[in-house]
Amino acid sequence: MNFYVMTLFPEMIEQGMNTSIIGRAIAKGLITLETINIRDYSVTGNGRIDDYPYGGGAGMVMQAEPVCRAYEELIHRMEGSRPKKELEAEICTAPEISPEQTLECGEMRKSAVPPRLIYLTPQGRVFNQKMALELANEKDLIFLCGHYEGIDERVLDAIVTDQVSIGDYVLTGGELPSMVMMDAIARMVPGVLSNADSGQSESFSDGLLEYPQYSRPEIWRGQAVPPVLLSGHHGNVDRWRRNQSLLRTLKTRPELLETVAFDKADRKFLLDVLNNRSGYSLTEEQKDFLGKLLAFCHES
Ligand code: SAM
Repeated sequence: MNFYVMTLFPEMIEQGMNTSIIGRAIAKGLITLETINIRDYSVTGNGRIDDYPYGGGAGMVMQAEPVCRAYEELIHRMEGSRPKKELEAEICTAPEISPEQTLECGEMRKSAVPPRLIYLTPQGRVFNQKMALELANEKDLIFLCGHYEGIDERVLDAIVTDQVSIGDYVLTGGELPSMVMMDAIARMVPGVLSNADSGQSESFSDGLLEYPQYSRPEIWRGQAVPPVLLSGHHGNVDRWRRNQSLLRTLKTRPELLETVAFDKADRKFLLDVLNNRSGYSLTEEQKDFLGKLLAFCHES
């Protein structure tokens, strides 16, 4: 998996990504990371890449040309480093353009199926685990980080394939969002996590939040670990964990349950919870939600 980040602050990306698990994955060559400093493509020669917004208003806007030049140069370089046969095959399957055509910014995107280019923006689709899983199938991903009031819309129209937000709030730049995305995507790359299973039972992997985790000591400040976890009975441990996942999801992210398929044992547990037969208490609102959910959903 190769990550390319177009940014005004390459050092921020490099420092953030070259540590811990992702840093080790980069060192092992499981992931590559290249930053492209958009400032190097300034058209004014003094490193300036922003200007006032047409129509007035507060703030500055990143200009189209430096972003486009940075992108074009990157694509040329990437294509130069790829086997000719691979490129020719892609060009032949791209109907909109002939290989001889001069490529302008934006037309480049339609030519040899270049990588997806993700513009980080609070206006984009909100990032989630499903999107991370889907993007992890790509070989190359380019991230474009905005700053100030954002980037001239014309270049976005020309080169961006995906607009992604990391949540409904506004940050100062796209660097942290790009790192959030790269971290979540990189974890899905085989070999990046030391235990291949550890990415599979986590929150959202089966539509539920993960069950609670415990480690040594068995008793901490008077609080014992749930006895089932010490029983050595794998079936009971799995059931307990599944029940805890269901309960936790119901209490904090109930809407997630709407897309989960319940089996017989799930339904029995949830019915016991609803009817106060499980020792777990619910608020009236949670009971109401669960009652409706169980009435409408079918067993898997
Ligand atoms: N004027 C823009 C708006 O209202 O939509 C916000 C610009 S923001 C101050 C500057 C840059 O930070 C954006 O271009 C984007 O790259 C990044 N950014 C800010 N919040 C973000 C979020 N929630 N998700 C992804 N990127 C974000």
